[in-house]
Order: sequence, then C-alpha cells, then structure tokens
Amino acid sequence: MKKVYCVGELLIDFVAEKQGNDLSKASLFTKKAGGAPANVACAISKLGGKGSFIGCVGNDPFGNFLSRILEDINVDISLLQRSDMFTTLAFVSLAEDGERDFVFSRGADQELTYDISVKNLIENNMLHLGAATSFLGGTLENTYSRYFFDALTHNTFISFDPNYRGDLWKGNDDAFIKKCTPFIEKAHLCKFSAEEAQLLSGKKDLNEACDYLHEIGTRIITITLGGDGTLLSTKNGKQIIPSINIKPVDTTGAGDAFIGCLLYQISKLDDINSIYENYEALADMVKLANKAGAITTTNYGAIESLPTLKQLQA
Ligand code: ATP
Repeated sequence: MKKVYCVGELLIDFVAEKQGNDLSKASLFTKKAGGAPANVACAISKLGGKGSFIGCVGNDPFGNFLSRILEDINVDISLLQRSDMFTTLAFVSLAEDGERDFVFSRGADQELTYDISVKNLIENNMLHLGAATSFLGGTLENTYSRYFFDALTHNTFISFDPNYRGDLWKGNDDAFIKKCTPFIEKAHLCKFSAEEAQLLSGKKDLNEACDYLHEIGTRIITITLGGDGTLLSTKNGKQIIPSINIKPVDTTGAGDAFIGCLLYQISKLDDINSIYENYEALADMVKLANKAGAITTTNYGAIESLPTLKQLQA
C-alpha cells in the first residue's frame, strides 16, 4: 500500500454556536479541528490507509490539540512542524441560508519550511496538495511548490484540490487561477467543486469545463456535486456517478472524505497506471468515495464524521 502525504493547513475553526451570520453578535464558539488537507489525511487513515500530514501548527495548546486528533486517527505526524507563531485560527458563523461571516487569523500554517527528507519519502508514493492557504504567501507557499516539483521527479502520484475559499480570495480570482494552473497541468488527479471547475476553466457548462481542464493537462477529473454525486472525466469517459440517498445534517468535510476515500483506494493498487485505462474500475472507486462523502454529511463536524472501512462496507 502506498503512503499518501497530504500538504497544507491544519487549523482551529471556531464555529459560532447560534445560527446567524453576524460574528459581532456571536458569544459562544465551538473549537473544531479544520484544514482540508489534514481532513484528507484523516479520511485515509480512518479507512485503514497510510495517511501522513505535512503542515505547521503553533507551539501552543491549540497545536497540541490538533496534533493529538491526527495521532488518535493514526495519521503519521512525523512531518508536522511546530512554530513559535500561534496556531492559525478561523472564526466562522453560518446562517441557515448558508451565508457566512468569517474572520481569519493566520498564524503558524504559513511557516511550513522545506524538509529535504520528504523528497525520498514521496518517491513511488502519493502526494495530495490541498491548496487553500498554500497560495497565500509565507514559507508554506514556496515549500508547497518545492514538494510539487520533487513529486514530479520522483514517480509520485499527484492529487490536487484547489479548495477555493471566496472569503480568502475576495476579488482576486485571476491570481487564484494563475496559481492553480501549473498544478492542474501536472497533477494526475484533480478534485474540483462545480464552482471551482467553472472558475478555473471559465466555462459554465461542466462538460466543457472538463474538456478545457484536460487540455491544460490533468488526466483524471472529479467534480463533486453534493447530493447529485460526482462527475468523473478521463479520456475514456465522462459520466455523473450518483451518490447514495441520505439526509444531510452538516456537509463540512464531505469533499475531503470523498477525495480521501478515492486516494485510499488508489493507494492499494499494485499498478497505479492501470487507472488511466480502466474507466469502469475508476467509476467503482468514485461510487465508494461518494458513499464516504455522503456518510460524512450525516453527522456534525468533519473529522469525527469520517467513516471507517466497516461503516463504508455496511
Ligand atoms: P467541501 O468543500 O465541503 O469539502 P465539496 O463541495 O467538494 O466539499 P460535496 O460535493 O459537498 O463536496 O460532497 C462530496 C461528495 O459527497 C459528493 O460528490 C457526494 O458524492 C457526497 N455527498 C455530499 N452531499 C451529499 C448528499 N446530500 N447526499 C448524498 N451524497 C452527498
């Protein structure tokens, strides 16, 4: 089984307790572990795979809390760095209509420095790059790119999720697109939401968006569509793979559960190259990954709702 190294942010989400999207009025907050790449590492390890997380948290109680959560799920945290800067914090308030109020206090996640040992560790393994804060400067941005280039020269399977956050890019969409393009060019697998696929391709129609994004370079595209399932596109086929029927309670982390489950299944293949040719086999994997995403929405929170293999097979 290959190991999947997930690079990016791990942070604290302080989620306002009462529904309503005005943070100035919120007084009670629940502390939650957040950060899409860390969620993906957890999804893989919770299924019994080899998830490893590469990121940076503060040398403070929040950093301790986060590293303990990952450790408890058997995520390899030997490459988790600690900084003297405080752990990154996000304060989020969500109204019932989905409107958000958001304050971001960026700390240690940006401080990730390049570790030369990673070059050999990722050889013949897998690298998942979950952008979000990795394109917002700090040494993290440079480190992220260097791991990407190391992966390109070390026979590493590369997965990329742009994790677009409107709150973070406010009116800077062109810069975001420019930063994502080299990754879409070279990644073997890209996971987009419909909004991301449309933004990054400039095409409203998702079929046209796939064609454009394949033209840039990536070979496997998955576009997650919430309750409608996932559009899977390769040169051998393009089809929406339906999800299962459930009643969602909280959709946080569904996309991370999805990509984590897909990468877990790919990590078990003896010959990764076989997935480019066998669309049906890939579609079966997406079907199971859809189920992982769906199960995650049936409980509150991201990491705590990720399924085990037993739950997935039930
Ligand atoms: P996020 O940004 O929250 O990480 P996302 O927008 O990328 O996620 P979604 O499309 O919400 O991800 O969900 C990922 C997958 O989980 C979907 O492709 C689908 O298979 C499954 N899923 C999500 N919501 C539902 C739902 N309501 N019913 C069934 N399946 C769902």
